[in-house]
Amino acid sequence: MKQFACSNVVPGCDGVVTGQTDDEVLDAAARHAADAHGMTEVPDEVVTQIRAGITDA
Ligand SMILES: [Zn+2]
Repeated sequence: MKQFACSNVVPGCDGVVTGQTDDEVLDAAARHAADAHGMTEVPDEVVTQIRAGITDA
């Protein structure tokens, strides 16, 4: 499993998303960003930050 802590991009957010692959984590992070932060699009630089912040869970 892979995981990403939203606080890597949004300080103070305690959201954590997981997936089997980096791409699944990215999808889950995009859904979280939309639901929790109203971010309807994830800019490329944020995708880069998310990929950099993904860790093994
Ligand atoms: Zn968040």
